[in-house]
Amino acid sequence: MHTKTLSELKTGLAKAEFSSVELTEYYLQRIERHNPDLNCFITTTAELARKLAIEADQKRKKGDAGSLNGIPIAHKDIFCTEGVRTSCGSRMLDNFIAPYESTVTAKLAQAGVVMLGKTNMDEFAMGSSNETSFYGPVKNPWDFERVPGGSSGGSAAAVAARLAPATTGTDTGGSIRQPASLCNVTGLKPTYGRVSRYGMIAFASSLDQGGPMAATAEDCALLLNVMAGLDAKDSTSVDLPVPDYSANLNKSIKGLKIGLPKQFFDSGLDQNVARSIQQALDEYKVAGAKLMEIDLPNMPLSVPAYYVVAPAECSSNLSRFDGVRYGYRVSDPQDLEDMYKRSRGEGFGAEVKRRIMIGTYALSAGYYDAYYKKAQQLRRLISDDFKQAFTKVDVIMGPASPTTAFKIGEKSDDPVAMYLSDIYTIAVNLAGLPGITIPAGFVQGLPTGLQIIGKHFDEARLLNVAHQYQQRTDWHQQVPNIFK
Ligand code: GLN
Repeated sequence: MHTKTLSELKTGLAKAEFSSVELTEYYLQRIERHNPDLNCFITTTAELARKLAIEADQKRKKGDAGSLNGIPIAHKDIFCTEGVRTSCGSRMLDNFIAPYESTVTAKLAQAGVVMLGKTNMDEFAMGSSNETSFYGPVKNPWDFERVPGGSSGGSAAAVAARLAPATTGTDTGGSIRQPASLCNVTGLKPTYGRVSRYGMIAFASSLDQGGPMAATAEDCALLLNVMAGLDAKDSTSVDLPVPDYSANLNKSIKGLKIGLPKQFFDSGLDQNVARSIQQALDEYKVAGAKLMEIDLPNMPLSVPAYYVVAPAECSSNLSRFDGVRYGYRVSDPQDLEDMYKRSRGEGFGAEVKRRIMIGTYALSAGYYDAYYKKAQQLRRLISDDFKQAFTKVDVIMGPASPTTAFKIGEKSDDPVAMYLSDIYTIAVNLAGLPGITIPAGFVQGLPTGLQIIGKHFDEARLLNVAHQYQQRTDWHQQVPNIFK
């Protein structure tokens, strides 16, 4: 059952080959059996899932089934889910039961999905390895000594091990695309504004974007059909019609113009990963696409620009966690100031504190122009580079990560080395563009991922271009032996 894609499961449910109750029970058992090894779930919601599955089966009998009726999926623990703990991977929210539902999870629930639980993540989505989670690191299903990537590492590992047919993730600087690459999963970061951020705990509001993670681009299309669209509760969501992403998957890619940024293939890229990406590009050539080198001269400045903008926004967003209204509060404060200080001091982990300090510094009087304003100017230059490139090409391709999955602990004491693992993904967020990672092969038993970047709101094309590759290859079907 777990080797079936979401799309196949949808067909199976429609043909009554199995019920949602059976399917849900099957996945709950897989989670129970394998999660102790992987730690990809923070919370499982078995009772709720069983109830939702019964309701889904009843709805189907009544002829009232939504597009994803009865399909079990899991949500990154950054999406507020009413009545269910929403921790954001932090001690700060370990006791937080969300009093309302995020738009993404509400829309998926409306379409009939059955929530299996909440997946592990880096604390407040800050990280590239899942090691900053209060709930401990997630193991990469391909090698338990290695990281799954981050921050949506739990979501990526759950799909890679087929503990859920699909999951939701969020991507501020690469958190869907990088773990997808390290785990052999397909993950789409939509255009900024395509998917509502309402109820998605904010890290860096001008960069954050939720998106789907699944085995295939076809499955991501099914999920994006439901997740996308204007939301009155998020003023940055965009009022553009949502195309039927599934209907757009079978267009020919003959003559597709693919840009290869020379900055993506420089000395920082592992040579084995480079070879694997090259093979994927060759496959596109065989399919009739045209490859050409492009220049994104300001791309190397994306990491420094991001590590001013993202901490600045996080220092503001995370000021709400003060021990007063919700979340962690010390039990024996001496006075108000002591309560603030120790609640935040004990509630947040080291990486979150580092970011709050950097952000507060960058925004402080006298430094604002030197850091924050400068970073915003770089951001514009980076966006302009992409704009220029897209006058010549339809999509841009390259790696999603400079290496395959690294060892747990390998980079955790070196924040800058960790920050560089997002060197190929961050510019995309700064420019607000959509990007997708698809499985592209293996290097010494570890997966690699090809990243495809598109113009604003060109998700339909990205999914089509990804799907065409998946029609010609079977990397996306590979599952680690122990999870077969
Ligand atoms: N790794 C990056 C960071 O730590 C990106 C995280 C993300 O996309 N949420 O900020």
